[in-house]
Amino acid sequence: MIGIDRIETFLVDLPTIRPHVLAMTTLHRQTLCLVRIHYADGITGVGEATTIGGLAYGDESPEGVKLAIDTYFAPILLAVDATRPAAAMAAVARHVVGNHFAKCAVETALIDAMGKRAGLPVSELLGGRVRETVPVLWTLASGDTSRDIAEAEAMLAERRHDTFKLKIGKRALADDVAHVAAIKRALGDAASVRVDVNMAWDEPTARRGIAMLADAGCDLVEQPINRHDRAGMARLAARAAIPIMADESLHGPEDAYDFAVRAAADVFAVKIEQSGGLFAAKRVQAIADAAGVALYGGTMLEAGVGTIASAHVFSTFPKLAFGTELFGPLLLTEEILEEPLDYGDFALRVPTGPGLGIALDEDRLAFFRRDAASRPAISLPSKEKA
Ligand SMILES: [Mg+2]
Repeated sequence: MIGIDRIETFLVDLPTIRPHVLAMTTLHRQTLCLVRIHYADGITGVGEATTIGGLAYGDESPEGVKLAIDTYFAPILLAVDATRPAAAMAAVARHVVGNHFAKCAVETALIDAMGKRAGLPVSELLGGRVRETVPVLWTLASGDTSRDIAEAEAMLAERRHDTFKLKIGKRALADDVAHVAAIKRALGDAASVRVDVNMAWDEPTARRGIAMLADAGCDLVEQPINRHDRAGMARLAARAAIPIMADESLHGPEDAYDFAVRAAADVFAVKIEQSGGLFAAKRVQAIADAAGVALYGGTMLEAGVGTIASAHVFSTFPKLAFGTELFGPLLLTEEILEEPLDYGDFALRVPTGPGLGIALDEDRLAFFRRDAASRPAISLPSKEKA
C-alpha cells in the first residue's frame, strides 16, 4: 500500500471575461477549491470543486468544500488505501453525508493519481473513451441582446461554438422570449439555440414560455421550474413540443432514477460535482441510457481541472445527444494550466496523457490563490487608512 504524505487544499479566485448573468446571480469572478493529494511514491493527484456564485446555485461553497476536506475527509483518506479510489470513497461515504462537490474533488484527485501511476488517462480507467473530442456549446449571458448576437457570430466565425445556451428567467416572459427569438433569427440554421431558466418560472409561466420558445425556434429548455417539483417537470415534459432538461434537480443516481421513473425530463444534464463524483456521473449516465433519456454534459463553470475531469467522463458516454457545456476555462481571464485546454472545431479535445493529462501552472496559482502573500496587500485597506 502506498500511503498519502499530505493533502493540500486551497482557494483560487479568478476574474471572468465579462459579467455572467444568471437568473439567481451575476458572476464577476470564479472561486475554485483545488485539492492536491501527495502520495509517498511522489505521485500527486489533483481535483477541483467550483460552484456557481458561491452559495447562490447550490448548497456547497468553495470555502465550505475546503473546510469539509481539511476537517473530515483528510483523516479518513490518511487511514485507508488511497491507491484504490472506489474503496477510499466508500470509506469517506460511511462518515460523510452529502457534500457531493467535495467528494467529487477528492475522487478526481484519487483517480488522477491512479492514472498517473498506471500510465493511463482517466477516461481509460472509466472503461475507455468512445470519442476523442466532446462538442462544447457557449452560453450567451451578457444580459444584452445585440452584444449576445455579436458574441455568437464571432464564435461561429472562429468555429469555436455553433450551439448557444441563453440564460433567461430574470426578465418578464415576453422580454425573454423576444430576446431568444431575436438571437435565433440573427443566427438562423447555422446555430442551435437553447435556454436555461435556472428554476425561475412557476408552472403556468413555464407552460406558456415553453410553447412560445418552441415557436421561436428554441431547441431545448433547461430546468424551467423549481428543482423539487418533479410532478410539474413531468407534466411539462409530457406536453412540450421541445425537449425539457433537468439540471438543478439531479444530485446523483438516486435522483436520476426517480426522474426516469416519473418521465420528468427528456434530457439529463450530467455534472460530475452535482452527481457526487466521476463514478456517480457514470451511474447517472447508465440510468439515462436504460430509460431512454438523452444526455448532456453539464458544467459548474469549473476551471481547467474540473472541466477536463468532466470531459474524460463524457468521452466515455456511448450517447451524448446534446453535447456538453464544458466552456468554463474560456469564461476566465486567467489560465491555471501550463498548457491550455485544446478547444477548436466546436469541441474540446480530451487529453491522452496519464491521469487527467494536464499540469497546473504553479506560478499563476501561487499568485491567484487567496492565501498568497501578495493578496492581502491588494485587497485589504492599509493600516494607515483603517
Ligand atoms: Mg443549468
